[in-house]
Amino acid sequence: MSRAVVIGAGVLGASVAHHLTRAGVAVTVLDAGGPASGTSGATFAIDVTHLKTPYSYYALNRRSAAAHLTLGEEDGAGARWRHAVPLVQWGHTAQERRVIEERARRLREWGHPCRTTGPEALAELAPGVDPASCRAEELVVHDHAAWYDAPLFVRTLLDRAVRRGAAVHHGLRVTGLLRRGDRITGVESEGRRWEADHVVNCAGPDAGRIAALAGAALPLTRIPGLVGESVPVPEARLGAILATPGVDLRPAPGDRVCSISWPVDARLAPDGTPGDAQDPGLEAELHRLGQEVLPALRGAAATAVRRGIRPVPADGLPLVGEAPGAPGLYHVVTHSGVTLAPLLGELTARELTAAAPVAELAPYRPGREPATGVRDESLQVMRGRPGTAARP
Ligand SMILES: Cc1cc2nc3c(=O)[nH]c(=O)nc-3n(C[C@H](O)[C@H](O)[C@H](O)COP(=O)(O)OP(=O)(O)OC[C@H]3O[C@@H](n4cnc5c(N)ncnc54)[C@H](O)[C@@H]3O)c2cc1C
Repeated sequence: MSRAVVIGAGVLGASVAHHLTRAGVAVTVLDAGGPASGTSGATFAIDVTHLKTPYSYYALNRRSAAAHLTLGEEDGAGARWRHAVPLVQWGHTAQERRVIEERARRLREWGHPCRTTGPEALAELAPGVDPASCRAEELVVHDHAAWYDAPLFVRTLLDRAVRRGAAVHHGLRVTGLLRRGDRITGVESEGRRWEADHVVNCAGPDAGRIAALAGAALPLTRIPGLVGESVPVPEARLGAILATPGVDLRPAPGDRVCSISWPVDARLAPDGTPGDAQDPGLEAELHRLGQEVLPALRGAAATAVRRGIRPVPADGLPLVGEAPGAPGLYHVVTHSGVTLAPLLGELTARELTAAAPVAELAPYRPGREPATGVRDESLQVMRGRPGTAARP
């Protein structure tokens, strides 16, 4: 039986551990924090397939979104972490409307269901929305959208891996890698050593630090984002994901409402700036933007706001596979990881157990030339270039 150590127990580590144990590998998962304590516990976690280009990357996301359902069927309980709701989007400025219209046209050409309707449809799609907050003449509706309870996804897949014999250790930080010749053969944590045939780096925004322990570099940036979560507000009656000009809102477990704002995130200090952890002004602004759209939030106590760090590969596409110069250390790192975790976990396990390259992963190797034609609209905003989103 081959052995694997998975570093990181977020959505990607949990999916990799699940698929490796299914393939008969003896898996140990090590995480420096608690369950879903990294980015997977501070994420907006919607299906972002509709934002992706080129077509091949869109198709990867679409397959992975479908794989959430397949994963749910495996134990007969269904994908309890997946919540199917429509996504409703509108824009106010000419530029915002153009971006949304172009996207809708592109998606229809690709056979992705989405439709346009008038603003009066809001009364049915999202009755809790203040009609005055929508000055658009048209809404774009994605009827087959979804949001995910990422911590539940992590717990479910780790539990399954444990039932197949995996060991999961929380509170253990990997501080060194074992080598035989130039090959990575295991990890060190707090004086303990784990030998393995495969070491899989699923450390999310810290993946670059793990790669550096092997003398390798990953083309990865860390981009912070604020995620608000309200107190329970049953009267908000939010049965849809809302992508509005100032703020995105979605339902969250326990009648809560989750929020992010691209304009607010664009004003956050870069990760690593001294004193960047809290910005009460921006947190209040996120709360205010949500209240503008959903009147039920106006009477609610201030939202709890978490700061997540997006692990963002330089060209926006996932990094999957070994990096040049560090054989034995396999990286699985991506933005949009909640959408992509099911499929990337499955392909990783297939590649590691078949010992042959998986063709679908060829565009995502860490040592590649940076890709062109990537258009993740949210990434453009995060990188402080709002308005460039509509251009290929
Ligand atoms: C604001 C925001 C909004 C987002 N919105 C979406 C969205 O709508 N849809 C979507 O699909 N994605 C979204 N994402 C991206 C998505 O959340 C991430 O891509 C995903 O959570 C990354 O998961 P991960 O498992 O790679 O990393 P993480 O969840 O960060 O897990 C990595 C784990 O590694 C552990 N670790 C790190 N270093 C070590 C070490 N040395 N030793 C041991 N353990 C270590 C950490 O403790 C952590 O638990 C968003 C992210 C943010 C921040």
